[in-house]
Amino acid sequence: MRPVDDQAFRDAMRVLERRHRVTDWAAGMTSFEILVSTILSQSTTVRNERLGMDGLRAAFGDLTPETLATASPRAIERAIWHAGLARRKSRHIRDVARIVSRDLGGDLDRVLRRPAGESREVLLALPGVGPKTADVMLAMAANRPVFPVDTHVARVARRWGLVRRADYEETREALEKRTSPSRRKAWHLAMIAHGRETCTARNPRCGACPVSTECDWYRARNRRRRDKPLR
Ligand code: SF4
Repeated sequence: MRPVDDQAFRDAMRVLERRHRVTDWAAGMTSFEILVSTILSQSTTVRNERLGMDGLRAAFGDLTPETLATASPRAIERAIWHAGLARRKSRHIRDVARIVSRDLGGDLDRVLRRPAGESREVLLALPGVGPKTADVMLAMAANRPVFPVDTHVARVARRWGLVRRADYEETREALEKRTSPSRRKAWHLAMIAHGRETCTARNPRCGACPVSTECDWYRARNRRRRDKPLR
């Protein structure tokens, strides 16, 4: 399968950006809230993550590191049950809150103002924070030119032949190489929307896809169907 070339990639992403006028879900949130929301979003849907955030706000009011650092994991677990994996996530949220308030002066923004590589290292050392969560923080809370890779982005990148393996760093590098720094956040959001609505994991809606002409996965699938012997 041929990978989508650089020009085709940019053309496809411009189409997706126009089609998905994606709002910045992190607008108006503090950096700490963005981090909590990103931890909650792991392995669940947007709807359930939002319900988890609503549950936390209902139980604790303002979501600050100080408030959650002193909360019991059990109380956090009850508040976020909608988001799934509540026991594990509640411990991560409480431990992150403790580290931010105790070791980082309660100020996550100060960490995010450091050079990107340094910020990323501090974030990656937090409980429950892997490369995706760290990059979402850099993109959404600090406006750094990174291209975070979630499950939808990874799937589209594989179908477009940009990477051969499901490797986080390889996928991020492949996307960043093809995307100008100023478009990375917007295209990350547009690609997620495309993966959710059209290029779904099961039964992608290729017939309704606005970028199918650029997609070799689609062409290869059609070829396979055409060449399949009739029984
Ligand atoms: S043509 Fe199908 S596989 Fe290719 S990007 Fe569109 S929905 Fe995804």
